[in-house]
Amino acid sequence: MNEGEQLHLDKLFERLLKARKIFKNKEVLRHSYTPRDLPHRHEQIETLAQILVPVLRGETPSNIFVYGKTGTGKTVTVKFVTEELKKISKKYNIPVDVIYINCEIVDTHYRVLANIVNHFKHETGIEVPLVGWPTDEVYAKLKQVIDMKERFVIIVLDEIDKLVKKSGDEVLYSLTRINTELKRAKVSVIGISNDLKFKEYLDPRVLSSLSEEEVVFPPYDATQLRDILTQRAEEAFYPGVLDESVIPLCAALAAREHGDARKALDLLRVAGEIAEREGASKVTEKHVWKAQEKIEQDMMEEVIKTLPLQSKVLLYAIVLLDENGELPANTGEVYSVYRELCEHLDLEPLTQRRISDLINELDMLGIINAKVVSKGRYGRTKEIRLNVTPYKIRNVFRYDYTIQPLLTISFESGQRRLI
Ligand code: ADP
Ligand code: MG
Repeated sequence: MNEGEQLHLDKLFERLLKARKIFKNKEVLRHSYTPRDLPHRHEQIETLAQILVPVLRGETPSNIFVYGKTGTGKTVTVKFVTEELKKISKKYNIPVDVIYINCEIVDTHYRVLANIVNHFKHETGIEVPLVGWPTDEVYAKLKQVIDMKERFVIIVLDEIDKLVKKSGDEVLYSLTRINTELKRAKVSVIGISNDLKFKEYLDPRVLSSLSEEEVVFPPYDATQLRDILTQRAEEAFYPGVLDESVIPLCAALAAREHGDARKALDLLRVAGEIAEREGASKVTEKHVWKAQEKIEQDMMEEVIKTLPLQSKVLLYAIVLLDENGELPANTGEVYSVYRELCEHLDLEPLTQRRISDLINELDMLGIINAKVVSKGRYGRTKEIRLNVTPYKIRNVFRYDYTIQPLLTISFESGQRRLI
């Protein structure tokens, strides 16, 4: 440890002690938190309420198809409205069940049906295992438990595009038509999709029954995001902790990315965390920029984690070259290190041509930078550089057993040999 670091540590406690507290309640900035008011979504709230109000008169509401890009407030708004409906229906003594299913997690026809049956298990004592039964039988059970008494059942299928892309639209077909087979209960479905082109995946009959009503969530602009952040910040931070420019900057950066409120909230939360860790007394623009970079890096780590093995080996070859001070390198240089790494892993190497394609892919993902440069009469070649620090990549690979065996290899400078 050098002297600078020592000094730093000596002052650690004093610094932390002196630091003003930044967060009053960080939970408020989490994705799962439902605020009491949803600025700029009053129109959607009103529309949803109008579609659902027949419940209070004992009539079946239409099915609803909700769509808009990520972070436009679809989930939070639907949860807010259905919660309100539950409260008011209790007052009027009308039995309403709301079943919320996130189809990114519950991603098959079978599991959606089983989840619905199991929602009522306290009342019915019936529980369907999460695998194993024939789907028809689960569906029959579902009708039986739902129809045990007069009631309204609102089934919210969030991220429905993920389910349909993976397992088809059968589940929507059955659920949007179930009322014709029920005697006492009445079901309506709210499908939520992030993908605007999702409709193209649906059978026209399914589409027409799901989208009896459609509610669109447009992206927020920077001003709207500012209002959303300001409302949250009042509860999340101590007064005076945020520099004036912090919220506008978070809002502007998130507006640039299709008006994503989740991104805006993440920026604000991470900026606060960075300021807190630095022992700063205020969150400033500088912290927001750092937050932006951290979020991007975290996303990058996710991307690296999910690369196919060949691309990971290729990336590791570039890491070794970087650590050895040999970047920028060209495709041939990268390829020769890659081949040696393949040998260590007993992996059949791809052709240089194919590797050249994978280099372009890594470039498109933003992990590396592969610039084509002209070398005069020697033709054109690629200059390959890393966009992520080797340290970060090693950290990701450390937990990846497929590539782990390579991590201990050291690279002998100058000779381009692995030892
Ligand atoms: P979507 O489901 O459209 O991807 P979410 O409903 O998950 O978006 O919203 C993303 C985040 O932004 C959540 O934390 C949510 O609470 C917040 N949010 C979105 N819209 C608003 C709003 N109008 N007011 C307050 N918070 C909002
Ligand atoms: Mg959502």
